[in-house]
Amino acid sequence: MNIHPIKAFNDNYIWIIERETEAVVVDPGEAAGVLAYLDQEKLDLTAILLTHNHDDHTGGVAQILAKYSNTPVYGPEETQPLNDHVLAEGDSFELLEEKVKVFDTPGHTEGHISYLFGDALFCGDSLFSAGTGRVFTGDYQAQYDTLQKFRQLNDTVKVYPAHEYTETNLRFAQSIEPTNQAIAEALKEVRKLRAANKPTLPSTIAREKEINLLLQAETLNRFIELRKARDNF
Ligand SMILES: [Zn+2]
Repeated sequence: MNIHPIKAFNDNYIWIIERETEAVVVDPGEAAGVLAYLDQEKLDLTAILLTHNHDDHTGGVAQILAKYSNTPVYGPEETQPLNDHVLAEGDSFELLEEKVKVFDTPGHTEGHISYLFGDALFCGDSLFSAGTGRVFTGDYQAQYDTLQKFRQLNDTVKVYPAHEYTETNLRFAQSIEPTNQAIAEALKEVRKLRAANKPTLPSTIAREKEINLLLQAETLNRFIELRKARDNF
């Protein structure tokens, strides 16, 4: 299994999962880059996976289906009618010879879901490297509970969020914990990657446990405090 990022908008990644001549696309906010890549690599599209109902994650679906008309689209209830397979916590199925497990991961949106695809986690905007998405629902408890689910995953799971926010998240983390060595080192590394115009992703659950203060928050109150501070950073 090979996983390739397609850049979209300012800082989105649309992830393409490939095995031999088959591909699955996650959160195609726009179509052009996806269609060009599938063409160039001579890949067939097996499925589209959606994590939540925001336009920068779903905006390309119609145009992709115009070319690949019988492709199944998986997503949570909130992305209907774009998806023809509605998924929720505990669902599992097979794609590209890998087991795909579904988690409800609400907070950023009410119906946000994430996919554990083999050992790769596609978490949309529910987890970023060194951060999380904004809690647009106002339901901080839901987002906190979502983070506890991620903490229970194996340390070796690779984390593929939908945005390149790592550097800003780490600058925020450093402002909270200026003497934290793991954060200082991660920031150095990430700045190098960004200067070379390279993605800072994927991360891993082990790495997030080290550098992600929101994931580390031991209480709901601490999480709310950090999340609100990050909103204003
Ligand atoms: Zn979103």
